Amino acid sequence: METMTNAITIEKSKTSKIHDVDFENLSFGSTYTDHMLVCDYVDGAWQTPKIIPYQPITLEPSAKIFHYGQSIFEGMKAYKDEAGKAWLFRPLENHKRLNKSAERLAIPELPESFFIEGLTTLLQLEKDWIPETPGSSLYIRPFILASGTGFHASPADAYKFIIACAPSGSYFSGKVRVLIEEKYSRSANGGVGYAKAGGNYAGQFYPTQLAIEKGYNQVIWTDDNNHEYIEEAGAMNIFARINDTLITGPTSDRILDGITRKSILEIAKDEGIDTEVRNITVNEVVQAAKDGTLKEMFGAGTAAVISPIAGFGYKGVDYDLPELSESYATRLKKRITDIQYNRAEDKFGWRYEV
Ligand SMILES: *Cc1c(COP(=O)(O)O)cnc(C)c1O
Repeated sequence: METMTNAITIEKSKTSKIHDVDFENLSFGSTYTDHMLVCDYVDGAWQTPKIIPYQPITLEPSAKIFHYGQSIFEGMKAYKDEAGKAWLFRPLENHKRLNKSAERLAIPELPESFFIEGLTTLLQLEKDWIPETPGSSLYIRPFILASGTGFHASPADAYKFIIACAPSGSYFSGKVRVLIEEKYSRSANGGVGYAKAGGNYAGQFYPTQLAIEKGYNQVIWTDDNNHEYIEEAGAMNIFARINDTLITGPTSDRILDGITRKSILEIAKDEGIDTEVRNITVNEVVQAAKDGTLKEMFGAGTAAVISPIAGFGYKGVDYDLPELSESYATRLKKRITDIQYNRAEDKFGWRYEV
């Protein structure tokens, strides 16, 4: 395996912005820490990463990111426990997925040591930025963009891997109402839906805007073929509880292999909850909502962890989900966040000390 030949260099910022930040009232992902990590790919190799003050980057107008959207990203969080120790959650999974996305977008893969050492070195420097307020965390955005130039539609010959961090409060407040999509698709068989490719999200904005205009918060994506299967909730994986069985769709070309999704499946099994990984049809969800067997639906992803759905719209009809006093959503969210914040035993070995 490729390893770093030189140590990561650190250029510290002269002043810190940390005292300007209201840690009690953080929004999501809109204030950035003092430093960022930058690693260039040139001459066929990833160079030694550098940590520098958070700042704008300079790119030529002919950089391929602007024309062909060659970019991928990851989303992860650092958590602080009561003793002040900092933790990551399954960071090697993020690295693996970054490289799966890289392969699909013809971006050179990033060696594991560059990712993990880069990330931990940056976080050690930014440790004070990890919020201690309950539910808050340091959102981490590793990404790769094509900085190489040329109007020719082909992969770039230069890239930048960057990690920037944003102290963040919780992502969603309250339950969301969602619209089951009948026309647009976020992904297709053979496409890039399984990759965290920037363009996937650009393509979601317009259908989501239309749903918001109709009074919903988010779109439930269905398969591109017949809009027959429930696949994802916005940029989250989706779970439905019918009677007492927790169901989520299988990962595929179209469904992103979420780390929260697979962790929830393992925790649910550990809790003795019946789980099924299979296609969920729109029809069965509508039918279950009508006959009262659809007890819960929720989205799952790093940002919101679990985002409960209050109800959904489909073909002009609105369906409400019941208010449960003991929901799987609440139970599973507690289990997973207790592991993330080092409040409970980590029998799965998911925590990673920074
Ligand atoms: C990132 C993402 C998810 C959730 O993945 P996590 O690893 O749990 O954060 C789900 N669906 C889409 C489309 C995503 O981009």
